[in-house]
Amino acid sequence: MSQDSVFFTPMQRDIRVTRARLPRREDFLARVEAILAAGQFANNGPQVRELERALELRLSLPHVLACASGTSALMLAAHCAGLRGKKVALPPYTYVATLSALLWLGCEPVFVDVDPATLCLSPDALREAFQRHPDIAGVMPVHVYGFSCDVEAIGSLCREHGVPLIYDAAQAFGSRLDGRSLLDYGDLSVCSFHATKVFHSGEGGCVVSHDDRMHADLSLARAFGHVGDTHLVPGVNAKMGELHAALGLAMLPDTDVEIMRREWLVALYDDALHDVRPRSVSRPEPPAGLRWNHAYYPVLLPDEAALLRVMGAMEAEGIHPRRYFYPSLTDLPYVHPSWRGTCPVAEDAARRVLCLPLHGALEEEIVHMTSGILARNLH
Ligand SMILES: *Cc1c(COP(=O)(O)O)cnc(C)c1O
Repeated sequence: MSQDSVFFTPMQRDIRVTRARLPRREDFLARVEAILAAGQFANNGPQVRELERALELRLSLPHVLACASGTSALMLAAHCAGLRGKKVALPPYTYVATLSALLWLGCEPVFVDVDPATLCLSPDALREAFQRHPDIAGVMPVHVYGFSCDVEAIGSLCREHGVPLIYDAAQAFGSRLDGRSLLDYGDLSVCSFHATKVFHSGEGGCVVSHDDRMHADLSLARAFGHVGDTHLVPGVNAKMGELHAALGLAMLPDTDVEIMRREWLVALYDDALHDVRPRSVSRPEPPAGLRWNHAYYPVLLPDEAALLRVMGAMEAEGIHPRRYFYPSLTDLPYVHPSWRGTCPVAEDAARRVLCLPLHGALEEEIVHMTSGILARNLH
């Protein structure tokens, strides 16, 4: 019996907001045997190349470059787009890695508020940011929860200003807009394959690019910037290892089933919370036209006090939801006041959003239990 069970006492129960999915065991072990037989664990080996080709085919993407993590992929993307040391616009409502990748490249962040419905970067706020900061050199929006940003409006603003557009699509694996993978939008797009994501390789990530030249630049920068004894650019080591690629390949075939299972659980949550919505709780919604990957189940509570009360009641039952994303990045101690801008929507959402447990192996009873605790503790 898994720990995700109603039959455990609260002390024994340990239900996390997510749980790493396991690979097809036989497939994974066969790949590990192949790695051992070949004796190659690193340096763009056959498993890494196979994973890249498999992702290109499956998601109809032009170029996929596998990396050690989503964060290292964000750094490679921003570096190769020429953004080192420059001003980059990003939302404050995201995981901290979006910001830290930029800070490690010496970029100056310009925080731009989010849309209240999707909690993704607001095109109107971006337009204003371009007016206040004509020297914005690049934009890094985030497809929060696997929802899609307004790709049309953001794309045309970036083209108008002639700046590169890099999507942090870390949470967007499996989401499709107009029949296209969300990872296919923007000049560059970055996904994370961290163990907590819908598709994962333990640790890992990738950069999706659209022309051969950029793909070659990214590839060179990923591996120390040299080919043999010819040193071309200062690079870094952001390569994915063979064991991680093998794990990813053994995880890939069941990803659609994982997404379907989450979709079903999301519908259960929606049903269970029907009576308290929309009066006391609302849910940020995926925009129309998106085939959503159902990566997370965020709910927006009436205020922070209600959130803390609900969270406390869940913790007491051994259920661990997560404030995701909290705090707003504008409130981080190392964020300079001049970077903050005005982001009331993001700051308000960061105080009130709670992500409820959601993963493919979650039991139906836990959804009912969690929803019940939520409903009982609203007032
Ligand atoms: C997970 C995540 C990252 C970081 O990815 P890693 O693979 O853990 O480095 C970056 N941005 C967002 C929005 C994420 O959710």
